[in-house]
Parts: sequence; structure tokens; C-alpha cells
Amino acid sequence: MDLSRRRFMILGASAATLAAIPFAGATAAGAAELVSPAEALKRLKLGNTRSANGNLVAKNYSPLGSTPAKGQKPFAAILSCGDSRVNPDNIFDTAPGNLFVVRNAGNVCEDVGLGSLEFAAAALGVSLIVVLGHTHCGAVVASENSIKTGELPPTHLDAFVERIIPGIENLPPGHTTNDAIATNATYQASRVENRSSIISGITSTGKLGIVSGVYGLASGRVTWL
Ligand SMILES: [Zn+2]
Repeated sequence: MDLSRRRFMILGASAATLAAIPFAGATAAGAAELVSPAEALKRLKLGNTRSANGNLVAKNYSPLGSTPAKGQKPFAAILSCGDSRVNPDNIFDTAPGNLFVVRNAGNVCEDVGLGSLEFAAAALGVSLIVVLGHTHCGAVVASENSIKTGELPPTHLDAFVERIIPGIENLPPGHTTNDAIATNATYQASRVENRSSIISGITSTGKLGIVSGVYGLASGRVTWL
């Protein structure tokens, strides 16, 4: 099958069809654990409370033998900023295999990341997608600066700035940077659902939820939006 034909077929596939595509080496291992979106969110909230309170459960990040190579079954996907102070596994006190994480500056919904989230939802069966902003986000500050100056940053820095600006440019005068950070998180979450028929198709069944939140660098706590 040539690539163009193959691409057409994938683009035309329903969520159910895509879920059946055998992504070699990456599909769920064994019987899938059924976790509702509400249960997935509850796990993340409990994990964040442990993390913020300094009660992290010890986890093994050393090579785990042959079992993980048979597949993965994460219960949630996270779209977070690439900020070095933001570590989803630590924030939610999760173990290897629990979270499918997509990261970039400003936790923006762009094509490769969106395709990755589609993969997590349709092929791996995550129950929840979390768009996670954070306080003191430089990508949002840069976007606010571009709105003020009317100029985009050079080279490829504009790639995330121009995807943040539409969500925050109509905030009322006097808004805070934290307002813009929260608005960006909810805006990017809406883009994840609105731009992906695969993801919106699964959310309509109730098997997948999409939420957004802001991680506080100082508190260690996620404020859910
Ligand atoms: Zn950031």
C-alpha cells in the first residue's frame, strides 16, 4: 500500500477503527484495566496531594525487565509545558507506565502533540487527557509580550507563541499573568477536543475526559480549572 493511500485510510478511520489498529509494540499489555475518567482524575488528585505533602511513594525507575516491553497501559495522558520544574510523574506521584506525557513550551496543542494524544486515546485507551499549565510560565509571558509589542519572536520561537496568543489576547485589561496561564490551559484543552474528531468521538462515549489545570511551582499543588 502506498503512503498516500495509507494516510487516506487512517484519516478516514473512525475512532473505533483506529483503536483496533495494531500499533506494534505499543498497545496495551494483557487485559485492559477499566478506569473511568472520574477514577483517573481521582488518582491524579490523590497523587498530587501526596506529592505536595512530600509523601511520594517510592518508585522503581531502573530497567524493569521484559514485562514493560510487552506493552503499556497508561490511564491518563498529560499535555504539559516543557519547563524543567514541571515533572508530571512527580507532580502526580505516578509510576512508569501510568502516564503518557506530551510536552512542549506553553503546553500548546499542535499537530504532532495532538496526534500523540490521539494515539494515547485511541490505541492505548487512556481515560483522561490533562492539559497542565504552570505558574511562572515563560511561554505565556513571551506571548503576552508579543501581544503588547505586536511582534512575534524570531526563528521557531513563534511556533508556540502564535498558538497561545489567540486564547489570551482578549483577556480584559488588568488581568494577571496567572489569569493568562489558566486561560491558556483551558484554551489548549478546548483545541485538543475541537481539532480532533478521534478524541471528541471518544469523549462523546463517556470513556475519555479532558480537563485542565495549573501547577503551582511554589505550592506543588495543581489547581483544577
Ligand atoms: Zn511553561
